[in-house]
Amino acid sequence: MARELIDVALARARVLAEARPLAPERVELADALGRVLAEDVASDLDLPPFDASAMDGFATRAGAAEALEVVGESRAGHPAEGSLGSGQAIRISTGAVVPEGAEAVVPVELTESVAAVAGARERVSVPAREPGTHLRRAGEDVRAGDAVLGAGTRLGPAEVAVLASLGRARVECGARPRVAVIVTGDELVEPAAALGPGQIRDSNAYALAAQADRAGALIVSRAIVRDELEATVLALAQAIEAADLVCVSGGVSVGPHDHVKAAFARLGVQERFWGVALKPGKPTWFGTLGSTLVFGLPGNPVSAMVTFHLFARLALERLAGVPAPPAERAVARLERAVPREARRDQALRCRLESRADGWHALPTGPQGSHILTSMLHADALALVPAGEGELAAGERVELELLR
Ligand code: AMP
Ligand code: MG
Repeated sequence: MARELIDVALARARVLAEARPLAPERVELADALGRVLAEDVASDLDLPPFDASAMDGFATRAGAAEALEVVGESRAGHPAEGSLGSGQAIRISTGAVVPEGAEAVVPVELTESVAAVAGARERVSVPAREPGTHLRRAGEDVRAGDAVLGAGTRLGPAEVAVLASLGRARVECGARPRVAVIVTGDELVEPAAALGPGQIRDSNAYALAAQADRAGALIVSRAIVRDELEATVLALAQAIEAADLVCVSGGVSVGPHDHVKAAFARLGVQERFWGVALKPGKPTWFGTLGSTLVFGLPGNPVSAMVTFHLFARLALERLAGVPAPPAERAVARLERAVPREARRDQALRCRLESRADGWHALPTGPQGSHILTSMLHADALALVPAGEGELAAGERVELELLR
């Protein structure tokens, strides 16, 4: 009898139900890029912290055109001493403190220095200016007490920069999940090896480790295991010991040389699902042992990458402290008609192109689960729902973005 396949959304829900954020840790800001914030960050100061000049020029009172006496200088990092009276100007640089009494800054390009009288102070003629011209007010960007970043935010360059400006030299971040990768198959050799009869190079260990790395994980081990039960059990036991999440590729179907499920059973890994209504990716297996998440991914290279992306990456994000993703997905128009699968959703590797009527999804050529090059140039997986007939060109498809 055919096995019940569960749909992708249910499989993802089961993964999310098992993946709990790891204990957070304190991270130096210089190491925080790509990490997930585990605290809410509020500002304890105004930004800018003081009224500052937006231009190089002269700080002045507001008023009509006149000639002013230059009584000092305020440079970035070196505020002027004293305050500014009427009839006076203080030379000022961009980012320098606006002196006491000043109401506007006149850009240097709009001023003219007045011929100096021997022994007298430098004078400058300025045009009429309104109060507030070319001033950056304290707190215009951030006010003391403002909530600025929330727990669960992935820290990109902008977030790191804002944290620096807030004086957060260290931040609380979700731990990086530890990932172990095991690939199974008698046919597999390392990329450096020459190919003997019937051999292929292991690409899955590279694909999965790279995907895990991109998802912010630490790769703690990777191993090629032969199609033998004892060897599989041993490698798996070591991987589970060392990692928060284990990915095994291949050997998870029902062939006589597929030992992965038997190894899971031997070690007491509890099955949460096996078999997803997805093409490619049908034999995907997921289970847990204690708090360790274990994925048995299909061996076919595209299937391994697609299922990693849809399931294991989701788990890694959750372990790192990213909130569950929203249900709505981005959509695009399918560039050409695609035959549907009666009982399985399809994940088509697509390039995305922006046109006048929005985004278009262009399948990246033949879509067999062994056509690894179909992953090249793919920006997204377009999700074609199971059904009869074909999905016509121009129909809208949901996207799972790959980049
Ligand atoms: P399996 O799931 O073990 O039946 O493998 C399915 C297909 O994927 C077979 O053609 C394998 O040779 C291929 N395959 C399995 N593991 C890998 C790997 N690590 N790298 C590349 N291809 C693989
Ligand atoms: Mg195999």
